[in-house]
Amino acid sequence: FLMAYRAVNPYNGELIKEFPAATDAEVEQALTAAKAFYQQAKQQPLEQRAKQLAALANEFTQKTDYYAKFLTTNMGKLINDARGEVQKTAAFANYYVEHGAAALADQDYTAIAGRKAHLEFSSIGAIVAVEPWNFPYTQVMRVFAPNFILGNPVILKHASIVPECAQAFEDACQAAGLPAGAFKNLFATYDQVNRMISDPRVQGVALTGSEKAGERIAAEAGHNLKKSTMELGGTDVCIVLNDADLKKAVAGAVNGRLRNSGQVCTSAKRYLVQSGIYDEFLAAIKEEFAKYQPGDPLDEKTTLAPLSSKSAQQNLQTQIKAVLAGGAKVLWGDPTPVTGPGAFFMPLIITGMTYDNPMYDHELFGPVAQIYQVEDESQIVELANHSNYGLGGAIYSEDLDKARQLASKIETGQIAVNQPLSSLPELPFGGIKKSGYGRELSDLGIREFANIKTVLG
Ligand code: NDP
Repeated sequence: FLMAYRAVNPYNGELIKEFPAATDAEVEQALTAAKAFYQQAKQQPLEQRAKQLAALANEFTQKTDYYAKFLTTNMGKLINDARGEVQKTAAFANYYVEHGAAALADQDYTAIAGRKAHLEFSSIGAIVAVEPWNFPYTQVMRVFAPNFILGNPVILKHASIVPECAQAFEDACQAAGLPAGAFKNLFATYDQVNRMISDPRVQGVALTGSEKAGERIAAEAGHNLKKSTMELGGTDVCIVLNDADLKKAVAGAVNGRLRNSGQVCTSAKRYLVQSGIYDEFLAAIKEEFAKYQPGDPLDEKTTLAPLSSKSAQQNLQTQIKAVLAGGAKVLWGDPTPVTGPGAFFMPLIITGMTYDNPMYDHELFGPVAQIYQVEDESQIVELANHSNYGLGGAIYSEDLDKARQLASKIETGQIAVNQPLSSLPELPFGGIKKSGYGRELSDLGIREFANIKTVLG
């Protein structure tokens, strides 16, 4: 059985291109080339790789439109957002160009009795990156840039619906003159991924994706005693307190939920709104949601993109049916998908989600907001933390001290005040509980797959 890597335009259902699955010989070649790069990088100064990574960033910046188009045609991203993603991909690379060396500099320690020691950060081997379709370039760069600076080669297994994006990333590396073996895209089967994880040339695996994929890949990594990072799903809260600036809160909540048609791990999936501002907030949200109109994502005027595929659309509908069968209600919107060839789903607001709803802890990956009217802080904390997930969140309040104190009580890996959560290269990104473990980006991200070696004396 060969897994099909197919690019199908989710706006019109047209098959763009199919790619054959990798052969075992290609997997072996990738591992051999990765090992050669790993050994060679140990002999070369980091500054050389920083220059090469800057060239890769430049490639994306110079040809933004060229790279953006693959995002739009393979997974439906609005063209302006696609351009934004290409720019962000370059920014992630440039962060490590500028700050990679400092994050890997030796760190001094003093042991008891004044004995000197230091930490050394060095490469460990090839890293397998299993990445999702919702941010096809930035997700890859988050793993590639820090590991390249460190000297770890990266072998990519991308989502099967975005093969042109995977190919384009590899082409960009080649165009920028990166050394062979530093990055390789493979249209690999699950089985080939597992075999790579067990190969001694591979020393780590990074996954962004669903909880289910996380369980499988983490199990494989654990079985082989390989380090892994897991960036999985979430049911993030967007908390709006009575004293919030309504405009700011509404803008953040709408962008937080509808960006990328709601297909973001840190989407604002649950609105927790205090009674004093609830009616006003809800009225404004409805008004904003109604402005979103489906259309061709290549058209700059379109406001609502299709979901990533017809199967994502069907999956969301199945989930929504189960949500409603479990006792929740539609507060606003149409709970059925838009008919026609496009994988569209209109924005929807759900209410009455209870702990005993079988779908309570499921990630709804589309433009579906859940809303809860809440009274006091203890109820907010209870509800926010009643989740298997713990990825991110946002709090809106004009009392910054109060918002920050509340932020400390929310069980997630990250949280934002008065803005939607977004990934910034300077800041650690990651979750707790079933949202996974490990951190990407920042100085912490570059140390995830480093040998942190203690040298005493
Ligand atoms: P998956 O988690 O299945 O896909 C993510 C990546 O993992 C893809 O590259 C996929 O490959 C790969 N993968 C999955 N299982 C395995 C395995 N056993 N071995 C090797 N690779 C594997 O997500 P889906 O695309 O199926 O989306 C389903 C749901 O997952 C979404 O509705 C959403 O809830 C969640 N999700 C969350 C994301 C997030 O950012 N938090 C991102 C993507 C999905 P392939 O495409 O070939 O199956």
